[in-house]
Amino acid sequence: MSWQDMTAFDRAHVWHPYASMTDPPPVLPVAGARGVYLELADGRRLIDGMSSWWCAIHGYRHPVLDAAVREQLESMAHVMFGGLTHEPAVALARRLLALTPQPLERVFFADSGSVAVEVAVKMAIQYWRGRGRPRRHRLLTVRHGYHGDTLAAMSVCDPQTGMHHLFRDVVPRQLFAPAPRTPFGGTWDPRDIAPVAALLERHADELAAVILEPVVQGAGGMRFYHPQYLRRLRALCDAHDVLLIFDEIATGFGRTGRLFAMEHAEVTPDVLCLGKALTGGYLTLAAVLTTAEVAAGVSAAGSGCLMHGPTFMANPLACRVACASIDLLLGRDWAGEVRRIERGLRRGLAPCRALRAVRDVRVLGAIGVVELHEPVDLRAITPRFVARGVWLRPFGPLVYTMPPYVIGEAELARLCGAIVEVLEETA
Ligand SMILES: *Cc1c(COP(=O)(O)O)cnc(C)c1O
Repeated sequence: MSWQDMTAFDRAHVWHPYASMTDPPPVLPVAGARGVYLELADGRRLIDGMSSWWCAIHGYRHPVLDAAVREQLESMAHVMFGGLTHEPAVALARRLLALTPQPLERVFFADSGSVAVEVAVKMAIQYWRGRGRPRRHRLLTVRHGYHGDTLAAMSVCDPQTGMHHLFRDVVPRQLFAPAPRTPFGGTWDPRDIAPVAALLERHADELAAVILEPVVQGAGGMRFYHPQYLRRLRALCDAHDVLLIFDEIATGFGRTGRLFAMEHAEVTPDVLCLGKALTGGYLTLAAVLTTAEVAAGVSAAGSGCLMHGPTFMANPLACRVACASIDLLLGRDWAGEVRRIERGLRRGLAPCRALRAVRDVRVLGAIGVVELHEPVDLRAITPRFVARGVWLRPFGPLVYTMPPYVIGEAELARLCGAIVEVLEETA
């Protein structure tokens, strides 16, 4: 099949993320990927500024990760996890517990980030049933969050920017505090915590948990907020006996300059969700970590067990490549690499500040964001980036990049240069 025929069939029959099926936007056929480059079917190569949505931290076709998958294929691609276990799952659980704070000591493997959030929410609800407080089943979160596309996850996404307002009447009604306002690196304003403190005070007896993304809010607005917010929130949750869930699906594994974003605040949640970069972008896998206390409460609920068990739970290929990805990350100076990218992004994106269309430019770790006053026209802007040899996928008024950690200086400069030029041209 020629790639022209392939894209025609794709256009007629295959759904893409957040895309119309009656007037689908164009998609580019990718024939391969290597290092930081996507290789298009027509031979053009694009620097991937998105790491395939935060995942491909080591770039594509990394020899160590390729070898890990091949090696695992020699023993088994998959077996059910009910009543069975295997070395890749245990090895990965060991690594995750070693990397995260001590109170987190029970691991649930889920098959995607959204499912991890569902599992975290179910853990919180079942925990309160186990403790004889079934009225505690609601969630509190902050605006501008993003937690995935399944129903419980949607219920805690930002009700406006969350793209899910269509479902307002269908999903459970949760409580929303304003998003944290003190920016990362700014001077902490103690008033920032007051609204969430008031909601906790008023609703504690119906709350199962508070859920939010620590320090960096991703797809709900690409906002970076002050870690002190998390320290205050932890104290409030303790005072009101409410569980705290951190969604580190986007921020985990070094992206913000710390291995986990919660380390900026030195705060430990009761439940932690990991995903995206967990497998280095090779396979879908997520993990939910929790404390012995929460696990005991969950198991004390009527069912005696957590009511969740996906078919592909702890898939051995995914667990094996996740182990290899973590070892690869820890075996190199990842913090130095992320700092180098942070410097490159600050330098490279700085000229955007002079543009009238630009509201803000912000960088944290290996994340660079240019926020515009007006939403971007994706159909118009994408070909301009592609013409300059870069792959970016803005949403709303946000042009942002989180490149693979292996990106070189020249490529990083090209990526930033393309953003500056395209915004000069279009804005
Ligand atoms: C991407 C993301 C999710 C959802 O993960 P999927 O694997 O896409 O289901 C949840 N939370 C955050 C913070 C994310 O960035």
